[in-house]
Amino acid sequence: MRIGVVGMGAAGCRAAMLLRERGHTPFLFEARPRVGGRLQTVEAGNGFYEAGGEWIDRDNTRIIALLRQFKQEPHPTQSWPGWVWYGGERSDERTLWPDVLEDAARIDETADLMASDLEEVPWDNVTEFATDQKSLSKFLDEQCRSRRGRWWQEATQRSDEGDDTDQISLLGWLCGRMNYDGRDEGDMSAFRFPQGAQRFCEKMVEGISIRHGAILERVEREAGEVNLYFQDHRESFDRVILTLPPPALRRIVFDPGLSEDKEAAIAECRMSRTIKISLRFRHAFWEDLGWPGRGMSDGPIQQFWNASRGDCAVINLYIGGTDALGWLDQADPIREACRELDGLLPGALESLSGGDVYNWIDDPYAGGSFSHLAPGYALGPMQAFSRPESGLHFAGEHTSLWTGYIEGALESAERAVKEILE
Ligand SMILES: Cc1cc2nc3c(=O)[nH]c(=O)nc-3n(C[C@H](O)[C@H](O)[C@H](O)COP(=O)(O)OP(=O)(O)OC[C@H]3O[C@@H](n4cnc5c(N)ncnc54)[C@H](O)[C@@H]3O)c2cc1C
Repeated sequence: MRIGVVGMGAAGCRAAMLLRERGHTPFLFEARPRVGGRLQTVEAGNGFYEAGGEWIDRDNTRIIALLRQFKQEPHPTQSWPGWVWYGGERSDERTLWPDVLEDAARIDETADLMASDLEEVPWDNVTEFATDQKSLSKFLDEQCRSRRGRWWQEATQRSDEGDDTDQISLLGWLCGRMNYDGRDEGDMSAFRFPQGAQRFCEKMVEGISIRHGAILERVEREAGEVNLYFQDHRESFDRVILTLPPPALRRIVFDPGLSEDKEAAIAECRMSRTIKISLRFRHAFWEDLGWPGRGMSDGPIQQFWNASRGDCAVINLYIGGTDALGWLDQADPIREACRELDGLLPGALESLSGGDVYNWIDDPYAGGSFSHLAPGYALGPMQAFSRPESGLHFAGEHTSLWTGYIEGALESAERAVKEILE
């Protein structure tokens, strides 16, 4: 069986690895000059930092098992509880403020109660039409009694979802939350990739040749064959796994067209809007301040952390949602971000040596940071995304039940390979 895999992010790499383990030699294609997709490791000084996904939660069992198989022990993070700034006051993630804790406890209780009636698979909740149509933001507005508590909810949920909560369906959020059942404080973002996230992907496809610069444009299916048309050549396969994110899939011409509900899933799957800014410093100036290494603020730089791995001094920060769109219009978005940081961690501006913006929203092969379940999507076309269609199999985080996560990308690869081999 001739099998092609298009897209060498975490999903494509894992699919290739599994196919090889089962005795197949898959043909691999990738538009970019590197593997990893939304996992991108950047060398800095004698160390590195991550420009894309970087955190591993304690219950991401697939990632952790693979890292151990590669003799790479997950790198523990010790930055919890981070510092939190609101209205010029500073607290930390453990103590926070009483009004914030009260709102958080109420939301947890209500969400647990609502989730107890739900099925884990979002589209199985067929009677929950209203919950699917409702935004997470509306739910949080109803539940929060303090302005500060509402801000904290927005900040933490936006960090998880990658976008403002008015973009997220309440049903989608409740179902995703079930993945977190039984988590303790600090389980989230408990580890990082010891040798970088990109290296993790490279390891999965070690020894398999990859055609880089292969930009898929057209897929034709005829007489049991799948013909892939890249910018400069054509290839034929019995089976193909497509791992392209939804915005990239929207640009592919399918002939004959895909089923109506698959087309709808591709069209309606929304991507979160997050930019990542990496600030490089001459030295780790924050060590003198006693900062534990992560922070959240009610200012424009919503979330930031010590991203240095090895011998470099880097702080990564996220700006997500509507705020992300305007940030890059400034004359010097990097310096502006550092100026904001300096207001929270004095010494940042003086020590700044450079920086980079990773704009995943406008990246042609990503189109956003990761997918989320927008209102109406879970009970709408979501279910159709992962379904195979004569010779074509769909993988990638957006086709999984760990939507948005590296763990989801791996899960989707397992499913797609199983579909082919069965
Ligand atoms: C800033 C940021 C932070 C994140 N943080 C985390 C985190 O901490 N933890 C976590 O679990 N997840 C995180 N994520 C999400 C995580 O990175 C993704 O869910 C995961 O990497 C997606 O893998 P994938 O294989 O599904 O897709 P991708 O990695 O996007 O792979 C798809 C591949 O297809 C290629 N491609 C696209 N179009 C074409 C074409 N026409 N022809 C050929 N190839 C094409 C792309 O170049 C890409 O390599 C983050 C993402 C971002 C952007």
